[in-house]
Amino acid sequence: MCGELRAEDAGRRVKVAGWVDTRRDHGGLVFVDLRDHTGKVQLVLKASETAHELRNEFVVQAEGEIVARAPDAVNPNLPTGEVEVQVERLTILSRSAPLPFQLDEENVDETLRIRYRWLDLRTERMQRNIRLNHTAIAAIRRTMDERGFVDVWTPSMTRGTPEGARDFLVPVRLQPGKFYALAQSPQLFKQLCMIGGLDRYYQIATCWRDEDLRADRQFEFRQLDLELAFAEREDVLDVLEACVVAAFESAGRRPPERPFPRLAYADAMRRYGSDKPDLRFGLEIEDATEATRDSEFGVFRNAPCVRYLVVPRTLSRSEHARLEALAKEWGAKGLANLAQVSKFLSERELESFGVPEGSSGLFVADEEPVVAHVLGLLRLHLARELDLIDAEADVFHWVLDFPLFEHDEESGGWTFMHHPFTAPVAEDAERIESDPAHVRGQHYDLIWNGWELGSGSIRIHRTDVQQAVFRVMGMSEEEQQGKFGFLLEALAMGAPPHGGFAMGIDRFVALLAGEPDIRQVIAFPKIASGFDPLTGAPTPYPDPALRDLGIRLAEPPAQG
Ligand code: ASP
Repeated sequence: MCGELRAEDAGRRVKVAGWVDTRRDHGGLVFVDLRDHTGKVQLVLKASETAHELRNEFVVQAEGEIVARAPDAVNPNLPTGEVEVQVERLTILSRSAPLPFQLDEENVDETLRIRYRWLDLRTERMQRNIRLNHTAIAAIRRTMDERGFVDVWTPSMTRGTPEGARDFLVPVRLQPGKFYALAQSPQLFKQLCMIGGLDRYYQIATCWRDEDLRADRQFEFRQLDLELAFAEREDVLDVLEACVVAAFESAGRRPPERPFPRLAYADAMRRYGSDKPDLRFGLEIEDATEATRDSEFGVFRNAPCVRYLVVPRTLSRSEHARLEALAKEWGAKGLANLAQVSKFLSERELESFGVPEGSSGLFVADEEPVVAHVLGLLRLHLARELDLIDAEADVFHWVLDFPLFEHDEESGGWTFMHHPFTAPVAEDAERIESDPAHVRGQHYDLIWNGWELGSGSIRIHRTDVQQAVFRVMGMSEEEQQGKFGFLLEALAMGAPPHGGFAMGIDRFVALLAGEPDIRQVIAFPKIASGFDPLTGAPTPYPDPALRDLGIRLAEPPAQG
């Protein structure tokens, strides 16, 4: 209301309510900028006891006439700047204690902002972000509804769900010594919905994962979680693309063009050294493994993989040394600058490299994963340093055909790349147990400007295939039944083919809002240590309460 008054409203009477944003007491007249979520309007108050009492962030209600401001008093910086309200009745609805920070103060410490979130939420930035979160979710819900998806609520308290993180545990008073886990995702429930004939499921689902907090990670976060029966990969990708476009449109942004480009995992790793490449710029990784097979230069000849980046300018020795130091930090043995090693290379080798005059070739020779990792990071680093990234661009793309398994460093065996319910690519299914290293999964990720927005897959819908995957992961029959017996049973009772996806809503909205971290689009986030400065949680519990739960602490909780 406050922010909506315009010149054509002059002459009308209004009743407005909101917070005192600023106040200028001129003795005879008091000017107040009154703020609500729509914006600000200037109130003009005749001197009175109440008017002089006003302070910032008092909550007031004012009644009076909207009048046009004199031309020299118009404020072109305010949408309501052509008018003001001549107040006849003013009521103070609530007073405010002095504030720990001013709402227009810049660079307020973030912990302080979260500690006093009710104040921080009043700022324009947080109002915009929290409302954008709502707008985007509303657009997504409309899209899902139009496409016949059913919003099904699934339990938060469940068995551990293997999404690769630690579980948050919930003790149960009625069954001391036993614990529920907070769902890391609704993965198995949504699959059971498919088996239950709810063939288009979705949910804006809260997920809990006990991981270290980061810019794009909180203990609890929301996903657009969806699943379709009788669906192929393209059906799933189509729904997600429609949701992204709808959310962009709802935010008044030009949506990315559909279909989003698709990139195979192997190509992403080879060309960009990452499974979530930022495609707002080129700077592709080139391969020189074959060309250097018989090189005179031992570093190249003896390495299983040789790749390079072409930097579009020459580098001084010290610039190269700095980049090499970084490459070593990231795990490389060295970073060869073509200008310095060309004397060891043959004409044929030099001709095969595409390193034009005026540019530099930076080579890494090592095991393939090391080469990809280091050049992938170097690519990002150089793009930032050389200002190659178009900050206005929104590049969405899919990464497809991930390997089904990866090496588990802890056990030395195989573990899942996505989760253990992802189906193998049909032609690789026969080889699940005989050649797990080369089985591709029907797994796909959605990437926006180098950020992974979410993952999904076509699922296993046959008990024998599911058991083969569990076996590759080293699970005995007993373990399989103990952990996932209900799933194996359900798969054996008429499971349709199905697949789905989950997109991190908070991450998506943070990017949509141009915010550097998801805390800025979450109303009540936790800080990096996992602490909630607002409520003071987590807190110790008194011994009797723990005793009821069958819990005795091994050590007293740390103070603070
Ligand atoms: N459950 C997966 C996750 O939370 C997403 C999916 O496969 O649908 O990442």
